[in-house]
Amino acid sequence: MTQQNVQGRIMKSLGGFYYVSDPRNKGEMIECRARGAFRQQNIKPCVGDWVEVELTPQGKGYVLQVQPRKNSLVRPPLANLDQLVLVVSIADPAPNAFVLDKLIAIAEYQQIEPVIVITKCDLADPSEFAQIYRQAGFTVLETKTLAHEGIEEVMEMLRDKTSAFCGNSGAGKSTLLNAIDPRLSLDTGDISQKLGRGRHTTRHVELYELPQGGFVADTPGFSAVDLEKFQIILKDELADCFREMRQYEGQCRFRGCSHTKEAGCAVLEAVKNGEIAPSRHQSYLALYEQAKNIKEWEIGRETKGQMKL
Ligand code: ZN
Repeated sequence: MTQQNVQGRIMKSLGGFYYVSDPRNKGEMIECRARGAFRQQNIKPCVGDWVEVELTPQGKGYVLQVQPRKNSLVRPPLANLDQLVLVVSIADPAPNAFVLDKLIAIAEYQQIEPVIVITKCDLADPSEFAQIYRQAGFTVLETKTLAHEGIEEVMEMLRDKTSAFCGNSGAGKSTLLNAIDPRLSLDTGDISQKLGRGRHTTRHVELYELPQGGFVADTPGFSAVDLEKFQIILKDELADCFREMRQYEGQCRFRGCSHTKEAGCAVLEAVKNGEIAPSRHQSYLALYEQAKNIKEWEIGRETKGQMKL
């Protein structure tokens, strides 16, 4: 019997099954198992992957091949994201610029566009904080979730993109997601805090198609800790993860300038002139200090930029 192969995207992964979008029927999914060959190749298909599926006569399928990824995260396991939406509250709790800058750097490293959504803007004026990131070249949206203000702009930003939301508990991520699409309101961040960390990791990850087009990953409990734990940036790679510093590349007096304290450093000059926000450069310095202590062999990275799954 001839088998028919189709191309689709993994929308959900649960209990050893992959649910792949059915290109023949919009909105339908094909329940698939992976072929054993993946384990030998050290590839684990994940949500967001574009795959080739061999259909069985019973209407199920086998994932035969994973198309090359443009990016991926380890936890939550997600591939081919267009945007990482970083949810940060302007008050209660106040934003932690260092944590945000670290997450931005990780997103940049993975070549996922970071977008910043500030919540609770009814509690404090976000303009100064927002300006730092707009000046650096990021999209920053301001919301008052309870008043339902700014939600339209968030919806527009999600259109035709594949996005994941990352936010620490208390940042208002689940309230925001609920306002966008009630199907995404299942965030267990608060519950996992009560039960102790790690409980939510058994939950499945799923991509939801938005009515206006685009996909949002339901990533329960996805917080800064998850991103930080699985991504290491070496010191020589760090400057490239601060986009407002890139334009000064090659303008420093010394080759291989670390932009930390060297004379004739174009980046330090830009900080002094107000072209680069001091808080962003401080985060760079702190991350550089951390990165200095990491040796490439310690993390067992075989190829630069590749992540272990
Ligand atoms: Zn420099």
